[in-house]
Amino acid sequence: MELRRFGPTGHMVPVIGQGSWHLEDDDPALAIAALRLGLDLGMTHIDTAELYGSGSVEELVGEAIAGCRDEVFLVSKVLPENASRAGTLAACEKSLARLGTDRLDSYLLHWPGDHPLEDTIAAFEQLRQEGKILSWGLSNFDAPNLDLALRIAGPGRIACNQVLYHLRERAIEHAVIPWCERHGVVVTAYSPFGSGHFPGPRSKGGRVLEEIAAAHDATARQVALRFLARKPSTFAIPKASRPDHAGENAGAGDLRLTRAELARIDKTFPLGARPRELPVI
Ligand code: NAP
Repeated sequence: MELRRFGPTGHMVPVIGQGSWHLEDDDPALAIAALRLGLDLGMTHIDTAELYGSGSVEELVGEAIAGCRDEVFLVSKVLPENASRAGTLAACEKSLARLGTDRLDSYLLHWPGDHPLEDTIAAFEQLRQEGKILSWGLSNFDAPNLDLALRIAGPGRIACNQVLYHLRERAIEHAVIPWCERHGVVVTAYSPFGSGHFPGPRSKGGRVLEEIAAAHDATARQVALRFLARKPSTFAIPKASRPDHAGENAGAGDLRLTRAELARIDKTFPLGARPRELPVI
């Protein structure tokens, strides 16, 4: 499993990690087995949130990582509605309790909300100074919102921006990835399989992925994950509730695609037009 420096945290983190959205709907024993197998195979970056299953997914993740917490790069998120200064501190305590740990490796604001970002960031900095989080980051932030966060926090503080990124949704390549690369902020790709809408093997794009996969004795999903994690700034966090899926996803961590293969994927799943960004007022 390839490891890379996770922005300003200095931690070496696997390029392929594990998501946990909707795990509450899956068989809990199987889901825990999938997460544990993923950990054994090097997918030690686990992403969760207080939102998922209203806290029940954090409890499930806590069960999966019991006994091996130190090997995990553990990320959770505060809901925007809870992200006042006091609310963020309280939400973090609850997440820590559900996860059965004394610290998070990164704590993210799930998406921009109505509480002043100054207050959320002040709470993040307090939690960092108290050792309850080792770093903090953002999620679903576009470039103008990232500018605002940088103005408030100053350089070297924002660890990551977790954003939607899959083969059919590459909009972040226009402005968000360049912004993050300029400022040393990691880009974590969520829903890397399009939340279950992965190109089928008989579709035009699916056939291209299958052909590239065959040349590496790999799978189409492994090729897709590796394409998303091709830049030094990008990491991917597929969710799998089945151990065989987790095993397949971990296999992307050592796959290497040629320039020609990356160019072919790029052409098959084109970037698309630049989305309009609204200025932050
Ligand atoms: P995803 O990872 O794109 O897709 C998950 C789906 O793909 C599940 O149905 C899963 O099935 C299936 N799958 C996974 N590996 C597979 C494999 N090797 N073969 C066949 N099917 C496979 O979707 P996601 O859950 O939306 O995104 C990943 C994670 O990103 C989330 O879990 C969450 O942690 C994070 N996320 C964050 C935000 C945010 O706002 N920050 C938003 C969305 C997601 P099984 O479950 O049956 O294995």
